[in-house]
Amino acid sequence: MASVTLKSVYKYYENSKEPAVKDFNLEIGDGEFVVFVGPSGCGKSTTLRMIAGLEDISQGEIYIDDVLVNEMEPKDRDIAMVFQNYALYPSMTVYNNMAFGLRLKKILDYRRNKDGSYRLDKNGKRIPYKRHYTNAEIDEKVIAAAKILEIQDYLERKPKALSGGQRQRVAIGRAIVRSPKAFLMDEPLSNLDAKLRNQMRGELILLRQKIQTTFIYVTHDQVEAVTLGDRIVVMKDGIIQQVGTPVEVFNKPANLFVAGFIGTPQMNFFDGTLSRKGEGWTLVTLGREYVLPADISRVLDSKGAQEGEITVGVRPDYFSFGKMPGEGIAAEVIIAEMMGTEHHLHVKVGDVTLTIKVPFDPSLSGESMKNSNGEKRVIYCDISLDKIQLFSKADGRNLVY
Ligand code: ADP
Repeated sequence: MASVTLKSVYKYYENSKEPAVKDFNLEIGDGEFVVFVGPSGCGKSTTLRMIAGLEDISQGEIYIDDVLVNEMEPKDRDIAMVFQNYALYPSMTVYNNMAFGLRLKKILDYRRNKDGSYRLDKNGKRIPYKRHYTNAEIDEKVIAAAKILEIQDYLERKPKALSGGQRQRVAIGRAIVRSPKAFLMDEPLSNLDAKLRNQMRGELILLRQKIQTTFIYVTHDQVEAVTLGDRIVVMKDGIIQQVGTPVEVFNKPANLFVAGFIGTPQMNFFDGTLSRKGEGWTLVTLGREYVLPADISRVLDSKGAQEGEITVGVRPDYFSFGKMPGEGIAAEVIIAEMMGTEHHLHVKVGDVTLTIKVPFDPSLSGESMKNSNGEKRVIYCDISLDKIQLFSKADGRNLVY
């Protein structure tokens, strides 16, 4: 296990004006599972590869367990990397694929006497030397890893006789046998089909419980990030947008980008106008005026919010519904997507299109969104003010968290 610290790390690739990674600061704790997430090209892999030593650091410092590793060779960093294309050796058995790295590795040991006790030099110190693992030691490690990953029965098979998920487990096993200080994983599940990806995601959670090692995991998939990470690091254009637990990032997104990136269906965004009223604030949006709760008004004040146009954000989950017809905002239903136990409604309020989650409703299952009289279907909904997000038009920052 190890902590990993990045201090003001930059990466400039040749021939590109903008840095691929810019002023990256992060402390990853011993045994923590941290996920880097963001759209393609935002600098996730580059950051991971700099930690692994596969890419030079242009500026800044990276520490593994308080040791500066900027100039350290990848093999000396004691870190294991698992990629999306896990490149097993096709001619070797699973056992040999897992044992391969161990056979090459040299470890530090101390000379012993015939009776097993340590030999000492004339100063009474043990005498160090480097040696390879013995076959028995390799066997022990491979079997232990195979048990963790439940691939004991396939050890004599060649990779081509394995399913995608089993191959992925062998690739992870190859890393586990080395007992690395940290696991770095770059989109390890992206080559798998959706069902297997879900299954492997579950297995990674279990694996993590079995081997308490530091994990740094890269994905563009926000569902993977939220389900796996103790903390997630949301990136865009080489810059960290927010670091937090999945719950923090979901409920208190730092800015418009994070709010839109995390959560499915995506958060709804629409325009609103903030005004001061006495001690507090009001919001005009979707044709209505809302007096904002005192706690939201206080945060708006502390963040220096200005009167005027802002972007309102409401997750599809956070709409309420009028008990009586005509109570709330009239929204015309355009599409109803059946999602099993719920419907996702795409509705229009004036020019604004919103996505709203509602419990499954059999009357919505027709192909037409008109009722039996041929009239448009209208629902009456309202936004839950305690879950509302307000974003600055100028810089996108969240004004209520
Ligand atoms: P991600 O992993 O988030 O998809 P990357 O770290 O791979 O993003 O890439 C970040 C940026 O750096 C992208 O704009 C990409 O085009 C650029 N980049 C990546 N590798 C290289 C390279 N070897 N040479 C030049 N530019 C690169």
